[in-house]
Amino acid sequence: MDGDTAPLSNKPPLDLLIAAPRGFCAGVDRAIRIVELSIEKYGAPIYVRHEIVHNRHVVEALKAKGAIFVEELDEVPDGVPVVFSAHGVPKAVPHKAAERGLDYIDATCPLVSKVHRQAERLVEAGRHILFVGHRGHPEVIGTLGQVPEGAMTLIETNEDAEALMPADPANLAFLTQTTLSVDDTAQVVATLRRRFPLIQAPRGEDICYATSNRQAAVKDIATQCDALLVIGAPNSSNSVRLVEVALRAGRRAKLIESAADLDLAWLDGVRTLGISAGASAPELLVRELVDRLGRHFTVSEREMNGEPESMVFKLPRTLAAA
Ligand code: SF4
Repeated sequence: MDGDTAPLSNKPPLDLLIAAPRGFCAGVDRAIRIVELSIEKYGAPIYVRHEIVHNRHVVEALKAKGAIFVEELDEVPDGVPVVFSAHGVPKAVPHKAAERGLDYIDATCPLVSKVHRQAERLVEAGRHILFVGHRGHPEVIGTLGQVPEGAMTLIETNEDAEALMPADPANLAFLTQTTLSVDDTAQVVATLRRRFPLIQAPRGEDICYATSNRQAAVKDIATQCDALLVIGAPNSSNSVRLVEVALRAGRRAKLIESAADLDLAWLDGVRTLGISAGASAPELLVRELVDRLGRHFTVSEREMNGEPESMVFKLPRTLAAA
């Protein structure tokens, strides 16, 4: 409970516009289920290389069930199964696990794996790949690690795309990280296409459905609210992008990890508040935020109509029947 709950009669009004879709995507659902089923199948502890998804709440809940999170394979003892996170891993990681005789379960999102396979095929076809993404993000490290060193060049910004001087401009292809800003990426891709008209594009869009849908939903409510809160972790790429979308629309916007992080003074002058959540943030965190706001304001809550989502990814065969 907040100690400073406002008396009922003094509560100012606050209209909440709840973005839809928001929160968990099919890849995050699947990755969490993989850790839970691995614990059921093999017994605790199960090691997980990197946060399974970028959310502290999810990680703590899985720790309580028997997962141990580490950053590198070297930290996994012999004879204990290890799960690879939804972001994907460089090829060297499963190779090293196999060399050590470790059982490993790959929770890489199938939409990230799709980009990995495209990268392999393009390199086999002799193309040099320009990969649009954010340096240091685990998904980018994983995708760069699918091909031999030097076969892919990372493009982080439109300036990078303008400055690039490739050895063979007629033999390029591009791919992108799955959780980028739809608008920024469109600009970078337009630059690449203008500078290198023969560049080969991916067969389908690499930015995933969940990222695109959540950005579109935030764009929609940003025109109707005074400020917008996004629940998500600072290292969650798709959550950070949602804040950027709202800021670009001229709205005050902020990323919070949970309701407790919100300084109520930030809401001064706000009559209509938008709320969204990144693809790795559980719905429980949205409900906790609405509950906390309800202790200080007379809230009215409206769930927006967004793109319906029904995507479900199959579990790995070894766990499907667990
Ligand atoms: Fe997969 Fe997209 Fe979810 Fe990432 S955000 S786990 S790519 S569906």
